[in-house]
Amino acid sequence: MHELSIAQSIIERVEAIRAEHEASGIASVQLQVGTLSGVDPYALELAFSVAVERTLYADTRWDIESVVARVKCRTCGRTTAPDGPFPICMNCDSTDIAIVTGRELMIDTIEVKQDEEKNHV
Ligand SMILES: [Zn+2]
Repeated sequence: MHELSIAQSIIERVEAIRAEHEASGIASVQLQVGTLSGVDPYALELAFSVAVERTLYADTRWDIESVVARVKCRTCGRTTAPDGPFPICMNCDSTDIAIVTGRELMIDTIEVKQDEEKNHV
């Protein structure tokens, strides 16, 4: 499962940040996942529940925020929000577009347990 390796690499980054802050644990992690990132947020959530078993992060809350795709069309100049997994212009069906949002797969906010301070990364 592709999402499991993604979850594991995110956990590794979270671990590095936890170590850097010398925190006892992580309360919550907010992730942004674009609808064009190729990652299924539900599968990713499931992957986290498997990947954190018997780790320091077993009770960490993983908030996965879906980022709606927006593309700017080079043919008609409009910015539209494709509703499928493919980046096409919803106005003229052109595939000559620039992706504005939707490719995100990143950590937005990490809430460190120790001091409850929020750190943007
Ligand atoms: Zn267009």
